Amino acid sequence: MTKPSLLERRYAVLGKHSPLFYDEPLHIVRGEGVWVYDVDGNRYLDVYNNVPHVGHCHPCVVEALSKQAATLNTHTRYLHENIVRYAERIVATFDASLSMMMLACTGSEANEIAIRMARAHTGGLGLICSSDTYHGNTASVFELGTIFNPETFSPAENVRTVPPPDSYRALHGLEGEALANAYAAEVQRAIDSFTHAGIKLAAALFCPAFTNEGLINAPQGFMDKAIKKVRAAGGLYIADEVQAGFGRTGHHWWAHQWDTVVPDIVTLGKPIGNGHPMSAVVARADLIEEFGARGMYFNTFGGNPVSCAVGNAVLDVLENENLMQNAINVGNYVLTGLEKLKDKHDVIGDVRNKGMFFAVDMVKNRATKEHAGDEAKRLVEFMLKNKILISRIGRNGSVLKMRPPMPFTTEHADLLLATLAEAFQSL
Ligand code: PMP
Repeated sequence: MTKPSLLERRYAVLGKHSPLFYDEPLHIVRGEGVWVYDVDGNRYLDVYNNVPHVGHCHPCVVEALSKQAATLNTHTRYLHENIVRYAERIVATFDASLSMMMLACTGSEANEIAIRMARAHTGGLGLICSSDTYHGNTASVFELGTIFNPETFSPAENVRTVPPPDSYRALHGLEGEALANAYAAEVQRAIDSFTHAGIKLAAALFCPAFTNEGLINAPQGFMDKAIKKVRAAGGLYIADEVQAGFGRTGHHWWAHQWDTVVPDIVTLGKPIGNGHPMSAVVARADLIEEFGARGMYFNTFGGNPVSCAVGNAVLDVLENENLMQNAINVGNYVLTGLEKLKDKHDVIGDVRNKGMFFAVDMVKNRATKEHAGDEAKRLVEFMLKNKILISRIGRNGSVLKMRPPMPFTTEHADLLLATLAEAFQSL
């Protein structure tokens, strides 16, 4: 009898619905910097994974983790230098009003805590989010996510969705301030709908870079107008930085800092521990104190000395290797290359970036902007065959998503752009 393959064994114990990338799933066994290696020793350029933020298996992070793991690992109910030092360093990257933090283990959990905090403070239950998004997998947070269950999604009683503030597929074809006003009016409509239903608003929860929505460009002024309406209705603004944060946008530590609006609560995750499961909630001190006073917040694993050693090492590498400046330089370089590809290929409707995060919006027709999801899928598979990892986002899977580890250089970018050129040619 032949031995079952790893895929068959996986199906047997994880089921067929546990998601896997690619028609033929990739079996990778090792990573280093921006490269990963499969079981046969083939090397792939990783232009997808943002979690290994400072590079796969960065030696400083691995060393910090192993040293602390060999010394002590407990939890946050004992004094320990690592957590205090980490919190001091993190809050220093925010507006002075966001001066305290709590630690957890996943982005979902951080958003869950943020929602509980907003509900406790406002006495409301209502949440506004965008209609093409994902904020996590736990009970309340999953109610906000539409992109993984678009067919079956029906907003929960306490949730109202608003269209993502997209300047490319603009609401009613509007532009500039009129467009920002139109999207802000959608937020007001959601607030009015809550009022009508007798539900008090707790918060609006947005990813400030609208990453899961397709890394869309929001019309200038949208956030300011929208959040003014939210605050006028007594709600808070929760910025979900789980995907967009930690300097990926280049010019700022946090994506919301592109804008003048300061959130009340911010959630962090994914790149925070370079692969180690960590997350955090940063908020106004009064909110953290009020939440804590109502009932003890304790998290068995969140903020343990090993996690905080890892978190501190990630910050060290970001600073020592000047990775935010690199995100600006290489980000601009890649964008220029993508613009050139757009000039050649009509299937590219729009290219966008925020530092080291890139989106290529693929369309069947530039005039109608019909989503080209099948073409995007073929392109991602072509890239895999040519040993480059990228992926897709957006409700229709028609937006190429590229967010490499931050030490991505112009040499890596040249390989990416040359291979993309072949891929678009092949469609
Ligand atoms: N928020 C955003 C914006 C995300 O993209 C994700 C994960 N894709 C989450 C929250 C949930 O994070 P986690 O998977 O760590 O629970």
